[in-house]
Amino acid sequence: MHPVVTAAARLAILRGPMAQIIDGKAVAAQVRSEVAKAARELAGRGIVPGLTVVRVGDDPASAVYVRGKRKDSEEVGFRSVEHHLGVTTTQIELMELVAQLNADPAVHGILVQLPLPKGLDERAVLEAIDPRKDADGFHPYNVGALSIGIPGPRPCTPAGIMRLLKTAGCDPRGKRALVIGRSNIVGKPMAMMLLEAHATVTVAHSRTTDLPAEVGRADILVAAIGKTELVKGTWVKEGAVVIDVGMNRLQGGKLVGDVEYAAAAQRARAITPVPGGVGPMTRAMLLVNTLELARAAHLPAT
Ligand code: NAP
Repeated sequence: MHPVVTAAARLAILRGPMAQIIDGKAVAAQVRSEVAKAARELAGRGIVPGLTVVRVGDDPASAVYVRGKRKDSEEVGFRSVEHHLGVTTTQIELMELVAQLNADPAVHGILVQLPLPKGLDERAVLEAIDPRKDADGFHPYNVGALSIGIPGPRPCTPAGIMRLLKTAGCDPRGKRALVIGRSNIVGKPMAMMLLEAHATVTVAHSRTTDLPAEVGRADILVAAIGKTELVKGTWVKEGAVVIDVGMNRLQGGKLVGDVEYAAAAQRARAITPVPGGVGPMTRAMLLVNTLELARAAHLPAT
C-alpha cells in the first residue's frame, strides 16, 4: 500500500527542501575515523578493544545487522568475534556463554543480538551481561546510570542522535523537545539524554490525545514510532530540528520514516533523511561504547 501524499507534501516536493539535511552517513564516517584513531593509540599501549556479538538462531535481519557491526569493528581495528548459536540453544547454554564472556579479559563489549528465538528470556540474558561490558547500554544498571547522570555506556540510537544535534548546531538547552515513542531502546533513553542536555522534554505515545499540538510546540522533534509518515509536515514548528528514527519498509522495499519528509523539510531548520540519517549513527555509536568500555577496563579514570 502506498502512503497518502497530502497536498502539502505535493507542494513541498515541487518547492524542494528548505531545511539543512543532517547527513548521518557523513557524521557516522567521522565518528568511525575518530574511533579508529583512538583505537590505534590504545593499540600502542597494548590494548585492543574487543567486541563480541552473540547471535542465536537464523533471523535474516539479525544476520545482516551482525555482519554490519562486525565489519565496522574490524575496520576500526577492534578484535571482532561472533558466537552464532543454533535455534535450539537453551537458556542455560546462553547464560553460560555470557558468563564465559564476562570472565574473558579480551572481551570489552558484549552484544546479544535481539530478538532472541521464542522460549529464551531476553531480560534474563541482558541482566546477566556484566554492566561494565554492556555494549548496548541496555543493562538495568546502565539504564539507572543514565537516569541519575553517572557515566556508562548509553543506548546507541539516542546517543547517535545527540551527536547529530550537535553537528546540526542545535544545543538542546532551554529548548522544548518532543520525543514520540517510549520504548526502552529509543524513546525513554532519548528523553533522559535530552533532559540531561537541559531541554524541556515531553514524551508522547499512542495514548497522547493531541499529537499535532504537541508537535507544533517542539523546537526539537524526535519521532521513534514505526509508522509510515504519521507525523505530518504541516504539524512541524517553523525552524524546528526534526530527527526521524522510523524505519518503515514499503511494498517494493523503499525505506521511509515516521515523518512526512518533504513537507516537514519546508518548515524545519534541519532534518534527518531516511535512510541516511539516524541509522548509520546507531552502528557508529556501538564502536564508541566499545572503545569507552575498553578504556575504562584498562586505564585509570582521569
Ligand atoms: P516500539 O518499541 O514499537 O515503540 C513505538 C512507540 O511509538 C511506542 O511507545 C508507541 O506508544 C508509540 N506509538 C505508536 N503509535 C503511536 C501513535 N499513533 N501516536 C503516538 N505514538 C505512537 O519501537 P522502537 O523500537 O522504539 O522503534 C521505533 C521506530 O524506530 C521503528 O520504525 C524502528 O524500526 C526504528 N528504529 C530505528 C533505529 C535506527 O537505528 N535508525 C533504531 C531503533 C529503532 P505505546 O508505548 O503507547 O505503545
